[in-house]
Amino acid sequence: MEITITHPELVEALAKPGKDILASLTPEKCHQWHMASCIPGEAGELFDAVKKHVIYGKPIDRANVVEELGDLEFYMEGLRQSLGITREETIEANVAKLTTRYAGLKYSDKAAQERADKHPAADRNFIGQSQLNLSAEAEQPQG
Ligand SMILES: [Mg+2]
Repeated sequence: MEITITHPELVEALAKPGKDILASLTPEKCHQWHMASCIPGEAGELFDAVKKHVIYGKPIDRANVVEELGDLEFYMEGLRQSLGITREETIEANVAKLTTRYAGLKYSDKAAQERADKHPAADRNFIGQSQLNLSAEAEQPQG
C-alpha cells in the first residue's frame, strides 16, 4: 500500500483538536492533568541528580535526591487522591505484579522478557486477595 499523505497532513488529520479537549475539561480533570504532567518533570530532575553522580563523577547530592523524591511523592499522592487510589493499593498491586512475574522472587532476563503477569491467565491479585482474606479472617468474631 502506497502512502499518499505527508506526515504533517497525517498529524493535522489525526491530532485531537484542542477545542474538543478544552470542551471536555472539568476542574477535576485539570487537577489530574496538573498532577500527572508534573511527574515526568520531577522524574527528570531526579534522573539529573543521579546522572551527575554516575556519569560526571560528582558526589551524590542526597538532599537533592530527597527533594526530588518528595516532589514525585507530592504529585503521585495528588493524582492518587483525585482518582480514589491509596498508596497502599499501588504497593499491593506492584507486589502482586512482580511476584507473578518473578516466580520464587528471583530475577531473570527470561522472566523479565516473558512478563508472566501480562498473560491472560495471570492472577494479578493473588497476593492482595490472600492478604485481604487473612485480614477478613482475623476480624471475624470467634465462637
Ligand atoms: Mg523538583
